[in-house]
Order: sequence, then C-alpha cells, then structure tokens
Amino acid sequence: MIPLIIAVDGFSSCGKSTFAKSIAERLGYAYIDTGAMYRAVTLFAMENSLVGDNGIDRIALLNRLDDIVISFRRNDKTGRNETLLNGRCVEDDIRTIKVSEKVSEISAIREVRKKLVALQQKMGKGKSVVMDGRDIGTVVFPAADIKIFMTAREEVRIRRRYDELKGKGIPASLEEIRENIIRRDYIDRTRAEDPLKQAEDAVVLDNSDMTVDQQMEWFEKILRKHQPHV
Ligand code: C5P
Repeated sequence: MIPLIIAVDGFSSCGKSTFAKSIAERLGYAYIDTGAMYRAVTLFAMENSLVGDNGIDRIALLNRLDDIVISFRRNDKTGRNETLLNGRCVEDDIRTIKVSEKVSEISAIREVRKKLVALQQKMGKGKSVVMDGRDIGTVVFPAADIKIFMTAREEVRIRRRYDELKGKGIPASLEEIRENIIRRDYIDRTRAEDPLKQAEDAVVLDNSDMTVDQQMEWFEKILRKHQPHV
C-alpha cells in the first residue's frame, strides 16, 4: 500500500480522536493527536507559572519553548497512546478542564504553532499516518491524500465531552463544558495564525447521528475511491 497521509480536522469534541484512532487501527497506520501537543505546551506553561488568571507571560513562555519536549508512546498494558512532556506521561493531566480553559490562548501564539507544526510535519513525513487537529489539511499537510472535516451538533458535542470526562473520572459540569467548547471553537476559528477552517478539498463528516461503526463504513467508501484495491 502506498503511504497515505489522512488529515482529520474539525470542531472541538466532535469525536475526531475516536474516529482518527479507528482509522489508524483499521489501516495499521500511526495516529498523531496534535491537540495533545498543544495541551502539553499549555500544561508546561501552567506548571511553570507562565499562564494564570492574569493571562499568559508570552515572553517568558517563548524563552522556555526550547525546554519543551513532546513525544508519544504506546502503553502496551493499556493499549493507549500516551503523551509525554519532557519524558513524563501527562496523558490524564492534559485532559482536565483547567488545561482546556487555557489551551486555545496558548495555541494562538505564532511561535508555539511554528514549533508544533514543524514537529508534526517531521512526525508524519514519509509515513502512513492519521493526524487529527484543526489545521492539518490546511497548514501541516496541505497535500494530504485524504482530508476529512468533522462536525456535529453542539448539544451532541457537549454530551460527548461530558461522558468522556466522566468516564475518566475528571470532574466538569455540562455548563462548564458548554462554555469551554463554544469559547475554544470561537478562538480557534478567529485567530490570526492557522485558524480552524475547512480545507477546500476536504470531505465533510457530520457524525451527530452516527455510531463509530457507521463512521467507519463512511470512511471505507472514501478510502476505496483513493485506493480501489483496499
Ligand atoms: O483536539 P483538542 O480538543 O484536544 O485540542 C485542544 C486545543 O488545541 C484546540 O482547542 C485548539 O486550540 C488547539 N489545537 C490547535 N491546532 C491543532 C490541534 C489543536 O490549535 N492542530
């Protein structure tokens, strides 16, 4: 099979990572969660008092950017992909509502994006990879072989996020989640650097009323158009 780059972009909490992970498993491809990388930078900033209630200490953060090393590993016991920040597993710490509240401001910083986009391009280059995020099909891999833009109704996204956090034992109310999702989407869509937008050649998947199996059936059809022998 020819290596394919599959870009999955879209709004917050519309099931991008579940979908992207399922595709990667089905095809035996690597899966890269770029949101986890922005979350890891945010956690670093929070832990080093570079961001707080008074906003971001931008200059201090930029001075520390080279101290931030992000990587991924597969945990063979759980079968989960884990995000590492300077060698430490932060998979659960980066999913808290506190990190979600700050991540979009951190992601809007030009230098942060430059660093992470370069890393993502390096991670995906020449490989068969499924990458999910906000700017994969527009900025990171504008020549990706398949581009999918995901969306779902707001109520569905809030409920999914709520169930996901609850399942992980992370406390958050429906109202907090609603506010966070609306705010993040707004910042992500309107920022100057690499805003969230649908690539012209992306196929839209509204999965509001679809199970994961139905989404996979949908994807199989898209894939067959690209690689009829699959
Ligand atoms: O995908 P997830 O919801 O974990 O992403 C967290 C945040 O990271 C997004 O709200 C967005 O601000 C940022 N992000 C980004 N570009 C990406 C992936 C995520 O700006 N490619």
